[in-house]
Amino acid sequence: MRTWLRNVYRATATIAAGMYVTLWYFVQTFRRRPFTAHFAYPERPVPIRPRYRGFHRFDLTTCIGCDKCARACPVDCIYIEKEKAPPPAKGFVVTGFKIDYTKCMFCALCVDPCPVDCIFMGSNYDISTYTRDGCIVDYAKLPLNVAWGQATLNPTAIHESKRVSLPVWTKTAEVAKATTPPQPTDAGQPATDKQPPT
Ligand code: SF4
Ligand code: SF4
Repeated sequence: MRTWLRNVYRATATIAAGMYVTLWYFVQTFRRRPFTAHFAYPERPVPIRPRYRGFHRFDLTTCIGCDKCARACPVDCIYIEKEKAPPPAKGFVVTGFKIDYTKCMFCALCVDPCPVDCIFMGSNYDISTYTRDGCIVDYAKLPLNVAWGQATLNPTAIHESKRVSLPVWTKTAEVAKATTPPQPTDAGQPATDKQPPT
């Protein structure tokens, strides 16, 4: 009987403690005001810390399409499209500068290799999205002042920069062949390109 009473007491106390935590957070949701009551975003920008690291700042007019930032990126999330500049101009015209923010980890390793200082980590957060659909941003389609972080809160321009109809990268036949594991042969050995000695 004593054991039964002790178990009943423990069960009741455990449930009461759990319900207290639930009730405490339930009340907090009413006590704290909504996000818009604090910051009035998007009408007014949300204050950020001085060293906040947000979306990139990119200057399309300076970029020479050298690919150094894309090669430095540890997760290969920068995709650059370029064309040969029409003569007598030299170099390239950058027609696309996409960053896939589903992969980007904001490490800033793409910033240092740039020879013309046209890409930096910015403090812009207006390009954020609630779904994965808008995570690929084409900086070549953004207005220059938005891409360079001088102007924000332009939802139409941001929407245009995120309209990517095709995959930014598809596996080529060579890469697919290189990454496909060798199929086992009838003898149970993995197939290789080596020819048997004659
Ligand atoms: S911040 Fe890092 S992960 Fe993001 S694009 Fe630059 S190098 Fe790649
Ligand atoms: S390293 Fe700089 S100049 Fe070269 S492609 Fe990247 S952003 Fe453009």
